[in-house]
Amino acid sequence: MSLLALDMMTITCVFISALRFDSAKVFRVKPQNEKEVSVMKSLPSLIKVDFWYPDSALHIVKQMEVDFHVSAEQSNTVERVLKQNGIPYQIIFDNLQEDIKKQLDGDKNDGHSYEKYNEWDKISDWTARIAKSNSTLVSRIQIGKTFENRPIFLLQIGNKSGEGKAIFMDCGVHAREWISPAFCQWFVKEAISTYGKDRDMTYILDNMNFYIVPIVNIDGYVWSWTQNRFWRKNRSNASQSNCIGVDINRNFDVAWSTADSSRNPCEETYCGFAPESEPETKAVASFIRSHLSSIKGYLTMHSYSQMILFPFGYTYEKTANYNELNELAKRAVNAIASLYGKVYKYGTSASTIYLSSGCSDDWVFNQGIKYSFTFELRDKGKYGFLLPESQIKPTCQEIMLAVKLIASYILNKTL
Ligand SMILES: [Zn+2]
Repeated sequence: MSLLALDMMTITCVFISALRFDSAKVFRVKPQNEKEVSVMKSLPSLIKVDFWYPDSALHIVKQMEVDFHVSAEQSNTVERVLKQNGIPYQIIFDNLQEDIKKQLDGDKNDGHSYEKYNEWDKISDWTARIAKSNSTLVSRIQIGKTFENRPIFLLQIGNKSGEGKAIFMDCGVHAREWISPAFCQWFVKEAISTYGKDRDMTYILDNMNFYIVPIVNIDGYVWSWTQNRFWRKNRSNASQSNCIGVDINRNFDVAWSTADSSRNPCEETYCGFAPESEPETKAVASFIRSHLSSIKGYLTMHSYSQMILFPFGYTYEKTANYNELNELAKRAVNAIASLYGKVYKYGTSASTIYLSSGCSDDWVFNQGIKYSFTFELRDKGKYGFLLPESQIKPTCQEIMLAVKLIASYILNKTL
């Protein structure tokens, strides 16, 4: 074997083995003034920073709790910079590699389970199986393909006897937010197993359909399992730069590429080269466009930070039905709190978190779907993206209450 071939093999091996996070850290900093904000915003120019909350340095403002992940080697630089500037900080994760392992504290069986995080192959098989064994209530449709050619499946659940009304719900838009796809699977299980028993669920499914995409960003999800646990974007290389991936939730055709999203392909909030440039965005948007007469509500599941958000994100202006959305979100967070006491915030995206453009909830709203919500699931940063499997069940149970409440409300309002 030539030296070159050996080199190539080494490169390939390095490339295909998963990134490790030994002694990688997550810092939490709450900048108190503009000077501290600007120090924080300058960090990515010194070292590689993976922002957990907010999504990008662009969003940092004073008094915001900022969580960010850096490698073990670079954590010394971070500490030096923060100390030099007299900025207090906490290290909330000291060794991410250990915490990645600890996250998998649930069901140990090998098959699909609602109380663990499932790999894509298992979820894909599950979509086929659940449609087949509940064929009167569930059907599976392919709405498109990902950049890497994986089929994007949608499960239609409910009364199929007519166009009627529907709610569209998607999960797994951001790859590393594993609790999100877990919720979509949980919802399908609950819908099927309580139909005919639970009065509210039976009423909902007798009178409307749910369109559920268990994972939108499948390529990114697979990457987060096999290569980089903290991957967020899709896996498209359409930017033709060295950086891979577009933030699907900045790629929708609404105020695209304004406000906060980035035109830099290396950023985590890169909006793509055009609205709907990404096949995953296109699949969701095309399906919604072709079902506008029936879709009355839209729910998109993300994590983390415990919030229910509604339009707008790209402007501080209020929607015409602001009061109604605000009241509904308030009732939904109260329902969530009634189960395990978890406190979720609510409000418009712009006022509750920050301005963001190209997001699916705003795009859907502007298509005329007046009930459009983004959920940020557990937790508030103790585990962040590494929410343990033992929290899947309680998280899904509390969110079920909110989703059923919103669905019943929409059904009654649009009779
Ligand atoms: Zn997200």
